[in-house]
Formats: sequence, C-alpha cells, structure tokens
Amino acid sequence: MYDRVALIGLGLIASSIFWAMKRGALAGEVTGYARSSETRDTARRIGLCDRVCDSIAEAVDGADLIVLCVPVGAMGDVAGEMGPHLAPGAMVTDVGSVKRAVIDAVAPHLPEGVHFVPGHPLAGTEHSGPESGFAELFDNRWCLLVPVEGSDVDAVAQLRAFWEGLGANVEEMDPDHHDLVVAVTSHAPHLIAYTMVGVADDLRRVTDSEVIKFSAGGFRDFTRIAASDPTMWRDVFLNNKDATLEILGRFTEELFALQRAIRRGDGDHLHAYFTRTRAIRRGIIEAGQDTDAPDFGRGAKR
Ligand code: NAP
Repeated sequence: MYDRVALIGLGLIASSIFWAMKRGALAGEVTGYARSSETRDTARRIGLCDRVCDSIAEAVDGADLIVLCVPVGAMGDVAGEMGPHLAPGAMVTDVGSVKRAVIDAVAPHLPEGVHFVPGHPLAGTEHSGPESGFAELFDNRWCLLVPVEGSDVDAVAQLRAFWEGLGANVEEMDPDHHDLVVAVTSHAPHLIAYTMVGVADDLRRVTDSEVIKFSAGGFRDFTRIAASDPTMWRDVFLNNKDATLEILGRFTEELFALQRAIRRGDGDHLHAYFTRTRAIRRGIIEAGQDTDAPDFGRGAKR
C-alpha cells in the first residue's frame, strides 16, 4: 500500500502498527526511529522494523508514509526535526490521543507538497514500549482520521485503506469534536481512575494489605487504567485541557448529586441512575467494542 513507511517513536502503538502491517503485507520497507539507543537496540533485537535508524532524518528519507507515534507533547519537536527531510508527496500522519494541539504543533513544520492527515486509533493497553505491541491491537477498533483543511482526497482515502488493512474501522471527524468525544470516553475516565487509585494509596492503612489482596472489585479495573504511561497521560491532559475540564466539571456535579442521594437515602435516584448506566454498557457490547464475558473476559483477551 505504501513503498516505504517510517515509524517515529517505537512504543506500543508503533510496534502494533508494525506487526499489523506485516500481517497484512501493507508496506514495502518499514524504517523506525526512537529517541533512546536502548529502545532502538530492543527494536533491532526483536525485529521491530526492517531497518532501525539512529536519526529521524535517516528514518524519513524517501518515506511515502510517516507515522508519528510519540507522546503528544513531543510531536512539534519531532515534526520540526523531520520537516526539512520530507519528500514532496509524502503523507504524514500521527496517532496522538489529542488532535487540535497536535495539528497546531505539527502543521507549521511541514513543507509545501507534503500531505498531513492526523489520526487516532481508539485502541491501547496499559503497557508501553517496543515489546508491548501486537498485530491484533486495532482489529475491530475505531481509528478516527481528522483531515485538515485542504487535505487531498486521494491521500485521505489511501490512509483510510491503510488503517482498514491494519484491522480498524475508520471514521472522519473534526478536531475539536474529536477532542471532546475522547475527553468523555477516555481522558476523564483515566483521570478518575488515577484519582481513585491515588485515594486508596493515601489510605496507607488499607493499601499496604487489604486493597491489594482484595482487589477483585471495581478497584482492580481502576488500577489497570491507572498503570498507563505517565508521560503519555501527562501530555494528554496538558493538551486537551478545555474539553477535559468541561467533562470533569459535569462529572463533579453528578458525583455531588449521587453523594446527596446516598446521604438522604434516596434509593430511587440511585436505582434509576444505575439502570441508565447499565444500558450504556449493553450498548458498548452490542456495538462489538467489548466482551460480555464475566470479569471482562480476563484470560481470553490481552
Ligand atoms: P510508548 O509505548 O510510551 O512509546 C512512546 C515512544 O515515543 C517511545 O519510543 C519513545 O522513545 C518515544 N518518545 C518519547 N518522548 C519522545 C521525545 N520527546 N522525542 C522523541 N521520541 C520520544 O507510547 P504509545 O502508547 O505507543 O503512545 C504513542 C502515541 O500514541 C501517544 O501520542 C499516545 O497519545 C497515542 N495513543 C496511545 C494509546 C495507548 O493506549 N497507549 C492509544 C491511542 C493513542 P524512547 O522509548 O526512546 O523513550
């Protein structure tokens, strides 16, 4: 589908793209670059990328697709470094979890004649690094493409076909709408999980023993989310500030309402609320975005 693909950043998402590209035979040669020599050595050892390069310039040289797979806060610097080395007609995309900030940071560095179509696969795990990826990560997951003004229609169509080849379903979205949607579905939930685990950690009295030992309840799922990469998530919140704060404001109001219902013994309120939320879970399962296996299908799924 592309003769030469360059992956910049070699963590969970890049390595999953690489293995899925190999599975689908979507690229001729794949080059890769990571910031640290440690990550580059690991990539070479496990066969991640056909050629691991020691500079961004070398990795993007002659590439017709460049995928930026670094934390959102690093996108601008990386784009600045690679800009002068891009071939006319090349396509630049990214996988960042925030879109408006990435567009603002990357677009000014791209020379005339280079296509830029930002993207965001809605798939991930709490693991990071070059050894955490796997070919099936994007299967039946959504990838949102966020074409910027004046994006070439054929270039967008080719990128769409590429993501479908990786196993994903593709939809196009406006960047601000994207940032609001993911604030609800991903960013605020992560912050809430971080907070809940932080609260438990503050209660040292229980944390040292019972919280870990008896963590089969909802807490265990919070700890999985709260184990996500600190750099990635710091950058997400710093770069999707407005939408996240908007959703957290609403969350706080709802939390106060539930708190009041508990204090007043308003069982009807609680029951009606939980009935509504249960229906959302059913909707997610019906949409094929999760399993209804007991315990979230642990053991059956990575
Ligand atoms: P990751 O596993 O932590 O890998 C990040 C990679 O970026 C590493 O190779 C790292 O290099 C490199 N990097 C970090 N800071 C850099 C810098 N300042 N300059 C150059 N390279 C740098 O991360 P990931 O989970 O693959 O996430 C990558 C992107 O995908 C992020 O933008 C994230 O928002 C987005 N995303 C993540 C998920 C998820 O669930 N994880 C889902 C969807 C989208 P070193 O190893 O050498 O430090």
